[in-house]
Amino acid sequence: RLQRKAHDTVLEINLDALTYNLNYYKNKVGKGTKIMAMVKAFAYGSGSTEVANLLQYHRVDYLGVAYADEGVALRQSGVTLPIMVLNPSTATFDLLWQYNLEPEIYSESMMLEWIQYSVLRNEPTQMPLVHLKLDTGMHRLGFVTDDLAALEEILIAHPFVRVASVFSHLVGADEGVHNTFSTLQCERFKEASEKIESILGYKVIKHILNSAGIIRFPDYRFDMVRLGIGLYGVEATGQMQNQLQSVGRLKTVVSQIKHLQAGETVGYGRKGQLERDASIATIAIGYADGYNRRLGNGVGQVVINGQRCPTIGNICMDMTMVDITGVDVEEGDEVLVFGQEMSIIELANRIDTIPYEILTGIGTRVKRVFY
Ligand code: PLP
Repeated sequence: RLQRKAHDTVLEINLDALTYNLNYYKNKVGKGTKIMAMVKAFAYGSGSTEVANLLQYHRVDYLGVAYADEGVALRQSGVTLPIMVLNPSTATFDLLWQYNLEPEIYSESMMLEWIQYSVLRNEPTQMPLVHLKLDTGMHRLGFVTDDLAALEEILIAHPFVRVASVFSHLVGADEGVHNTFSTLQCERFKEASEKIESILGYKVIKHILNSAGIIRFPDYRFDMVRLGIGLYGVEATGQMQNQLQSVGRLKTVVSQIKHLQAGETVGYGRKGQLERDASIATIAIGYADGYNRRLGNGVGQVVINGQRCPTIGNICMDMTMVDITGVDVEEGDEVLVFGQEMSIIELANRIDTIPYEILTGIGTRVKRVFY
């Protein structure tokens, strides 16, 4: 039985498994294609500074974050790799310069603000490289075809803006049903990025594929791929899952056990109705830890001593009750929330969401333990 700790809910991260997954994708793309590892959103919940330092050790080419402060945290932890910032606010331009973080530029107005800031700052040698985002069909951020003429004019007029890469993002690389549209996006991207490159007069890194794209569209790997969820052990196309190793293991403990009679109820709102006598375990994880409230009332299951136990009643903020009737359980026993025996994919499917949301939703108070 377990020794109880100050906080019993822990996300264990297997760094060897993460390295294994990195090497799987490295072998797939070969030496000629660079890898940008996506470590945004706290490295998909897995701990950005630890993961980024490991990736730096294994010589990925680039890191990708969403916001400037995510990049600053990496720099402060000793990361020297180039870092692209996907969605920087113009208010953080000074941070980008200070920490040499490379912004995605996705609109004409943003480009003009960048140029204006650069001119005012008047430190050309310090100027970070930029990444131009093309909208090839996602319709989220990026220059559309009609914007390109204006963009090109600006680039020609301001040659001190140094472009590291031109990139785009696929809307449905993980779903075979969208293959035709993905190919269309890749072709649009090829044409537009080559045009920009010829206007710039120097080579830029071109990239469009995410984890699923790497598997599905080998002809469009261009110069770099952006590897996210695959690193963390989830194979997004669902076809090669057995090729990856599971990285995260979310576990907690049994705090208390109760033996209740038929007719009693469990938890808030009396939602857990007992139709038979039952043994109930209260476990130390709740929605504040990222155990989604929709997993209540039997939708979710945890694994205790190798046996599946369904939730009963509503999930609470810090705790959850599970039905352990007929299972050999004692207070202090370990509870597996996800890991080998309950995959993140299954957990996501149970509440009709995606593994990305499960991983990035794990609460900040859950201690990350690396091994
Ligand atoms: N590129 C961009 C622009 C993204 O937003 C993301 C993730 O959301 C990725 C790459 C990585 O995608 P994946 O985790 O599916 O590999």
